[in-house]
Amino acid sequence: MRPLDGSVALVTGASRGIGAAVAVELARLGAHCVITARTQGGLEETDDAIRAAGGTATLLPFDLEKEAEIDKLGPSIVQRFGRLDILLHAAGVLAKLTPVSHIMPRDWNEAVAVNLTACWRLIRSCDPPLRAAPAGRAVLLTDSVAAAPGAFWGLYGFGKAGQQYLAQSWAAEVAHTTLRVNLADPGAVATHLRANAMPGEDPTQLPQPADVAPGIASLCLPGESRHGQVIRVAAAA
Ligand code: NAP
Repeated sequence: MRPLDGSVALVTGASRGIGAAVAVELARLGAHCVITARTQGGLEETDDAIRAAGGTATLLPFDLEKEAEIDKLGPSIVQRFGRLDILLHAAGVLAKLTPVSHIMPRDWNEAVAVNLTACWRLIRSCDPPLRAAPAGRAVLLTDSVAAAPGAFWGLYGFGKAGQQYLAQSWAAEVAHTTLRVNLADPGAVATHLRANAMPGEDPTQLPQPADVAPGIASLCLPGESRHGQVIRVAAAA
C-alpha cells in the first residue's frame, strides 16, 4: 500500500517545471493525478514520467485565463472520479520583471488572471470536495518575494502576495475541518519561469524540480498536520 492509494489529486502547472515534478511524486505515492496546463505535449511528457514511476494520470489541457471554466473543474472531477483529495496549485507566470510604472495592460491582465484570479476560482471550485475528502490537502506554490517587495518584482509579487492572503484566509475558514491548506515556497529552482527572471544564471547550479518535488508532495500526505503556513521546502541533497 502506498500512502495516497485511492486518492485523486488535481495538479495545475503540470506541463513542466515544479508542477510536473510534483505530479510525478504524488503519482508515485499512489494518487491518481489529474494534470492540467495549456501545453498538451508537456502534459504527455509528464504522463510518461508518471507511468514510468508506476502511477496513473488523466490529462486535462486547460487555460487558467478562461476563468469561468475553472468553476467546473472541482465538480467535473467529482463526477468522473467520485472524489478530490488534493489540490496542488503550481501554475504561475512571471509575466515580466519591470518597473511598476512601466507595467503594460496585457502583462497586468495575465498576471492577475493566472497568479491571482485562478487561485480564487480554484478554491471556490475545489473547496466542497476537498472538505468532503477524508484528509483533504491543498498546497499552493508561493515565492519569498510575496513577503519582500523589491524593485521590478511588483507585477509577479503582488499576485503571489494576494494568493498567500487568500490561501491563509481560506485556511482560517476551514481550520475546524480535516482539510489542511498550506503554501510551499520552493526557493530558486531551475525552471522556465526562473530562467525568464534570471537569464544570466547557470541553471545547473540551482536545485532541479525533482529535488524539491518530494518535500512539496509530502505536504499532501494524510499525516501532515501543518495548516495555514508558508513552508520553505528544502531541496533533496
Ligand atoms: P514554469 O516551469 O514556468 O511552469 C509554470 C507552469 O504554469 C507551466 O506548467 C505552465 O503550463 C503553467 N501555466 C502558465 N500559464 C498558464 C495558464 N494560462 N493556464 C494554465 N497553466 C498555465 O514555472 P515553475 O518555476 O515550475 O513555477 C511553478 C510555481 O512555482 C509557480 O507558481 C511559481 O511562482 C513558483 N515558484 C517558482 C520558483 C522558481 O525558482 N522556479 C520560485 C518560487 C516559486 P503551460 O505553459 O503549458 O500552460
